[in-house]
Amino acid sequence: MQEFHRIHTFFKPLCGTGAYDLCDDTACLGDFAHSTDTIVSGVHFIGHESPYQLAQKLLGTSLSDLASVGATPLTYSLNLTLPKGIDDCWFESFSKGLQYMQDTYGIYLLGGDTTHFSSILGENAPMVLSATVFGTAPYDIHRNTAQVGDAVCISGKTGLGYVGLQLALGAVACLHTPSIPLEHYYTPIPHIAMGKHIAPYVHACCDVSDGLVADVGHIATASHVDIVLYMPHIPICETIAEYSHVLDIQHAVLSGGDDYVLAFTVPENAISHLESCYRIGTVVQKSCDPTVRVLDESGRDITPKYTGYVHT
Ligand code: ADP
Ligand code: MG
Repeated sequence: MQEFHRIHTFFKPLCGTGAYDLCDDTACLGDFAHSTDTIVSGVHFIGHESPYQLAQKLLGTSLSDLASVGATPLTYSLNLTLPKGIDDCWFESFSKGLQYMQDTYGIYLLGGDTTHFSSILGENAPMVLSATVFGTAPYDIHRNTAQVGDAVCISGKTGLGYVGLQLALGAVACLHTPSIPLEHYYTPIPHIAMGKHIAPYVHACCDVSDGLVADVGHIATASHVDIVLYMPHIPICETIAEYSHVLDIQHAVLSGGDDYVLAFTVPENAISHLESCYRIGTVVQKSCDPTVRVLDESGRDITPKYTGYVHT
């Protein structure tokens, strides 16, 4: 069973008011939005990052979920499970990274828990970092409220996260220093201001963490609709186009993940109110599998087989 199916089968029966069937990026109790996220060494980060960068990544990815409901962040709690041998220097640098995020997003620490793996595992134990973020969200935004005829838009260009990961892994040589894709991978920026800007107009929204097609697919599945994306309308930033000789840029843009832009649907007549967003597709009647199709300039179906990170 895949992760989403497991959550649906075993955890959905346990949820109540505000959980929205565990389909959304956040849970909301009244105007109060909440989301929790975990990053694990070797899975969500490589392990060579500085503690300062890890703090930024942890809160950046968590706040991205709050951005998807147009929330104003308020506070957060922190759960750390660490290998033995983490020293004070690590904590000093990590706390400075947290402070940077607090200053940038106007949040403060509420509490948390700190535990260590058994010393038997030694320094081979992973590092597990969790943050639960809280904010106020005056609009009622979910993944299951896309409507047929809506435009599908994104709040920024995708692909940087994937290219950054390849650079961070050393799979591809870096062309520039400092490197925009690398910085984006290490310290993603949540689209908080953009979330608030689009919130009054949005029907459905999610943040793009797994991959554009996969995450747009979550909106389509939850809303019982299909989505058609037009490849010529999907923006490709110049920085990643420079890597087209060594990387599959179409794959990066459609399926790469780690982007943390917002993907959302809005009625056609709201598009003129949106600034700095890209219209990339349309919501259509549910008809076929797959729920998301990508078409090229001549209408040919170029939907990728791999649509994004699969939770197993
Ligand atoms: P995101 O990538 O946006 O952080 P996830 O893919 O982690 O979201 O989770 C999808 C949905 O499943 C969310 O609504 C989340 O609250 C829920 N979920 C995931 N894991 C659990 C769990 N262990 N218990 C309860 N709900 C969970
Ligand atoms: Mg999310």
